[in-house]
Amino acid sequence: MTDTPPLGLSPVINVSGTMTGLGASITSSPVRDATAAMMGHFVNMHELQTRASEAIERLTGAQAGFMTASASAGISLSVAGCMTGIDPGRAEALPRNPGPKPRIAVQLGHLCHYGAPLSQSVEITGGEVLPVGQSTLCTDHALHAAMGPEVSAALFVVSHHVVHYGQVPLDRFAEIAHEADVPVIVDAASEYDLRGFLAAGADLVIYSGHKFLGGPTSGIVAGRRDLVRAAYLQNIGIGRGMKIGKESIAGAIAALEAWETRDHEGVRERERAALALWTEALAGIDGVKATPVPDPTGNPLDRLQVMIDALRLGADASGIASALANRPTPIIVRNHEVELGYFQLDPCNLKPGQAEIVANALLELLTDHDALGQMPEDLASARNGGTDGYLSWGNEEGK
Ligand SMILES: *Cc1c(COP(=O)(O)O)cnc(C)c1O
Repeated sequence: MTDTPPLGLSPVINVSGTMTGLGASITSSPVRDATAAMMGHFVNMHELQTRASEAIERLTGAQAGFMTASASAGISLSVAGCMTGIDPGRAEALPRNPGPKPRIAVQLGHLCHYGAPLSQSVEITGGEVLPVGQSTLCTDHALHAAMGPEVSAALFVVSHHVVHYGQVPLDRFAEIAHEADVPVIVDAASEYDLRGFLAAGADLVIYSGHKFLGGPTSGIVAGRRDLVRAAYLQNIGIGRGMKIGKESIAGAIAALEAWETRDHEGVRERERAALALWTEALAGIDGVKATPVPDPTGNPLDRLQVMIDALRLGADASGIASALANRPTPIIVRNHEVELGYFQLDPCNLKPGQAEIVANALLELLTDHDALGQMPEDLASARNGGTDGYLSWGNEEGK
């Protein structure tokens, strides 16, 4: 298949997920058309954000919504909005003066890294993270005790990146926060469920437009009208550096509309077929065990977990993941848990024909005993790769 990106860029096969470092999403042609069409016009951006709000309201059930540069930006603007309310003077004073309620309560097990520390998305507003509980246990009483007069919001994170046990669930979290009149912000950047978090008590919910929605790079903020307006107001302040263009708003609206009519069952069928193909390719290779695993936050998506017995195969999961990434056409697998002895294959971003290329590459590599014998462990790159790429970019030897 010849399908190369422009500017002479190397093609990449993405079986990793929706990753910033791989260009987030590839969009459908209606989304591309909507983006291109908007580029030919001057518009009133508030009117365009009203159109965005209408689409967001329809899909999420929220009172209002707007779009910004990214989900990370959406978190910062939401936090800032909860601190300042609809007060332009206070919005302009951020981050120097966060006002009388600078604290944002977050369960310690939710303080994750999604490419940058979540805590920083709070701190760039001038606000302060108030960690609640311990990494693997947050009790109701710990959360209750944290809801002091300086707390302007409680932030809840839904993600495979967070600790998945011992945390206060969202409905209880919202109950406890609301008893203290503290609004709840939910980071649902990577979630398919557009309604459930608001229904469970969230006051503001943030989604990425460029993850499962398949839109251009963008962030969606949805929720209570007064808080959405206060978050939107931050565009006169810290939100300036997070601004979204008219083209991305148009594309993200088109992506929301496409989400409504997407053949979700058909998509799942194609994904299951890819998993079946890979399972078959790996069957019978000594030292390799492939198992479909459901998405850890309940998104309707299974991935193939490829468990590697390093002693029997001669190479470990991290080395194999790196070898796949170093092929002439890189195959990027999901490697954030390789120290546990496996990598995962995510079928949700495959282009036609790529499932077969991945199957063949796996079979070739995992039966090549000479290559496996010389494959070094590469656990550090799985952990530090996100930083290493930034460090080496632009250096004298670099490309
Ligand atoms: C991806 C992600 C983010 C950041 O989203 P962007 O839109 O890329 O800024 C924030 N939180 C979680 C849980 C994520 O998965």
